[in-house]
Amino acid sequence: MFEVNLLIDGKTVPSSSGATFERRNPLSGEVVSRAAAATIDDVRAAVDAAARAFVSWSQVGPGERRARLLKAADAVEARAGQFIEAMASETGASASWGGFNVNLAAGVLREAAALTTQVSGEVIPSDIPSSLALAVRQPAGVVLGMAPWNAPVILGMRSIAVPLACGNTVVFKGSELCPRTQGLIVEALNEAGFPPGVVNFVVSAPVDAAAVVEAMIAHTAVRRVNFTGSTRVGRIIATTCAQHLKPVVLELGGKAPLVVLDDANIDAAVDGAIFGAFANSGQICMSTERIIVDARIADNFAIRLAARARALPLGDPRGKDPVVLGSVIDMSTVARCNALIDDAIEKGARLLCGGKATSTLMPATLLDHVTPDMMIYREESFGPVKPIVRVHGVEEAIACANDNEYGLSAAVFGSDLARALEVAKRIESGICHVNGPTVHDEAQMPFGGVKASGFGRFGGRAGIHEFTELRWLTLQTTPRRYPF
Ligand code: NAD
Repeated sequence: MFEVNLLIDGKTVPSSSGATFERRNPLSGEVVSRAAAATIDDVRAAVDAAARAFVSWSQVGPGERRARLLKAADAVEARAGQFIEAMASETGASASWGGFNVNLAAGVLREAAALTTQVSGEVIPSDIPSSLALAVRQPAGVVLGMAPWNAPVILGMRSIAVPLACGNTVVFKGSELCPRTQGLIVEALNEAGFPPGVVNFVVSAPVDAAAVVEAMIAHTAVRRVNFTGSTRVGRIIATTCAQHLKPVVLELGGKAPLVVLDDANIDAAVDGAIFGAFANSGQICMSTERIIVDARIADNFAIRLAARARALPLGDPRGKDPVVLGSVIDMSTVARCNALIDDAIEKGARLLCGGKATSTLMPATLLDHVTPDMMIYREESFGPVKPIVRVHGVEEAIACANDNEYGLSAAVFGSDLARALEVAKRIESGICHVNGPTVHDEAQMPFGGVKASGFGRFGGRAGIHEFTELRWLTLQTTPRRYPF
């Protein structure tokens, strides 16, 4: 069993109350992790430590920050086996998803390292004679990052890497569903030699989440907040940030459409849909959640897609055979997906493959002829249960793609690239790929959503804008003239 502690001011510590909470394996039910349950005093101490460390870390040059981040990338890769084991134990994830998480998280750190010399500004012409006017990006202060369990290494790293690159200090709040996995992130950063207090780590018991998050957002030293998770909790975080006037980046739920136009290369579209729908058992914010197909090619597409879905290996990721679909996170996911299947079939959808599950091992499931009155047309399944919606022509495809509260990722498959690009431009989402899957992330890209998927962008230069303060500084080089 893994023991997980907090990291405050460079020290690995238990909760000040001595309280702990447990995480059980979603499939076997055995306790796999016991973690310190942070109190309000603990999280305030973490923010205080970050505020003290900010004084010197914000003055450290880009070369030193880059060196730490690059070392951390190596330290993450060196722990690949531990990450994969922890993810399988705590979240039921397959080894391939664990490996992908490690690779991209290391990439996030290397990209952040490259950004340290991109935190730049500009000289702006001033109407005041001999006034040199500058727009300068400076570190904002303490950044609170909060990440969920579903891509725990990537999203955890993303919540803190660019903030650190910009000269901020961080408090990282991990998910109570994967304390060991996200604790390993901090272990790797610690090994890379960040000074005490620059990186702090807290986790809390699920019942305390609301109170500890509120206490951190309310702390005067916290200057930026970022949250990746559900839209429901995102709204709570946004409300709290509004009360305390704290800027926040919100990366929330999704219901990504994958549009297959009548001229699409069917094999390419099937490949993209299979990967986007069923990677990590559909538990990715960018997961393909609606497969919108032109009726002219829908029969052919659906037959091929279902054949591929049926063949995807499913099983305990801790077994010896590699799997694509491991265990989903908990039985509430099973109950939610089973209810979506029941509702759709009752209202006339056709089950192409898979079906209801009785354990967290859920098969790849496709429902065809899904219509707007069915719950699965609108609601995020966040599991391996995906609808096919048949449409007639491009306009209906676009209308269907936009007929949803979410807007994170999207995809369009079509051979006429000019037409496909026009469709992509008209889809209401932060991200859209032509002839590529909805699940696609690279560290240097401006990642984020619109509508109920949140606002703000992680990645690349966009991240610098989120996690720095843009200041106007002037330098008067000759005596200034005043009107009186
Ligand atoms: P969640 O929102 O249920 O939980 C996230 C965290 O919020 C928890 O770890 C918990 O500590 C905290 N929390 C719970 N109640 C709170 C409260 N009242 N106040 C403050 N904090 C509270 O999300 P989840 O189930 O862990 O993750 C799945 C969701 O995340 C899905 O909807 C998915 O689409 C979304 N997601 C989005 C992205 C993205 O980049 N847009 C990426 C991954 C996941």
